[in-house]
Amino acid sequence: HAARTPKLALHTRMLIGFIVGAGAGLLANVYFADAGWLATLVTYVADPIGQLFLRLLFMLVIPLVFAALILGVVEIGDPQSLGRIGGKTLVWILAVTAVAVTIGLVLVNVLQPGLGLPPELADSLLAESGERTADIAGKGGAISGVDLLLNIVPKNPIAAAAAGDLIAVMFFALAFGVAATVLRTESTRLFVGAVQGIYDICLKLIGWIIELAPYAVAALLFSITSKLGFDVMVQLARFVGTVLLALGIHFFIVFPILLVVFGRMSPLAFFRGAQPALLTAFSTSSSSATLPTTLAVTEERLGVPRRVARFVCTLGATANMNGTALFEGITVLFLAQFFGIELNLVQQITVLVLCIFGSIGAAGVPGGSLPVIAMILMMFNIPPEGIGLILGVDRLLDMCRTVVNVGGDMAGSVVIGRSEFGRGTETVAHVDETPAS
Ligand code: ASP
Repeated sequence: HAARTPKLALHTRMLIGFIVGAGAGLLANVYFADAGWLATLVTYVADPIGQLFLRLLFMLVIPLVFAALILGVVEIGDPQSLGRIGGKTLVWILAVTAVAVTIGLVLVNVLQPGLGLPPELADSLLAESGERTADIAGKGGAISGVDLLLNIVPKNPIAAAAAGDLIAVMFFALAFGVAATVLRTESTRLFVGAVQGIYDICLKLIGWIIELAPYAVAALLFSITSKLGFDVMVQLARFVGTVLLALGIHFFIVFPILLVVFGRMSPLAFFRGAQPALLTAFSTSSSSATLPTTLAVTEERLGVPRRVARFVCTLGATANMNGTALFEGITVLFLAQFFGIELNLVQQITVLVLCIFGSIGAAGVPGGSLPVIAMILMMFNIPPEGIGLILGVDRLLDMCRTVVNVGGDMAGSVVIGRSEFGRGTETVAHVDETPAS
């Protein structure tokens, strides 16, 4: 991919944005905390720039999630003898992603990385952004209780989309995808082609929007650090630590267990074989950009039959994102803690479900999970400005979660390949035919 050089530059620019924004904000907090001009600067310059970026991200959530879920279902249900592999892939994606999010949610509840902010500050931030949140999302108030379950099914899908009811939109998209898969007429194929077009266009737009990230990082960090000072930096470090620990547990403990139990493959052999794809994932922060490497490595170095590798890895690059799901869960709960918003068990389970589907809906590009996180935050009335807080450290975490995403695709290929063909560890390339039963 030729886009690699500008992407590295973007990464550096984001780091500069982080340092400039946080540095200026900290100085302002220490020396000019009560100055009138500071409030003016924040209100009329820094906040609008940050808001612009967030709005651009929100803009894409509904079309992106709608398209991604339909395409995922259609691919899984492809009758070209992939039905059974599709079913196994679906089970793998849902089950292993659920494990990943659970690890994240448990860790964030145990370690409480978001606590410690003076409550008055969180309250004032919350009050300020409550209106804007309601303004952007077109709705206010946290969701809870029985309504939560009923709300999964939208009365009116357009109204659900307009209200930013992500879970209702997801339900509608899944239903649509299932029906399109069952029908498979000429006209539904045309429809699926158009949906693919929507998806590709959204990816392109995300690529452009992400170019604005360095300025947004600077603006959002300036705004938040000028209000909250050094405490925010401590909080951020605890957040990074929690995410890395959770990713590590999933990558170095959960994957090896699954590989040994279901794939009958030694984890060491897996990691050694998978290495080129893992390194590519780390350096590109993009599952989609890594896909060619993932495919080659899975077939040639891990010995997974081509049919399985091609299907699981291709679908997995956009739909199977363990690291992303885990990250989304931690981020939502971290920001809830940070802003002093209590989420009860039912709400946390909702977060879990949203993160599973949110990771399927996230695009396999750098920062692909950000729009989804913004949307989940709004559903729980957590200020989406919180994204600004994590944006500055996102690139590092993005690199690491993409490694876990791609690792999950390869581990899934090994396990599903083993169950279909009774092999998966031999370095036999291109075993195309003869399924086990
Ligand atoms: N960068 C991730 C990927 O491509 C998606 C994300 O979590 O932002 O897998």
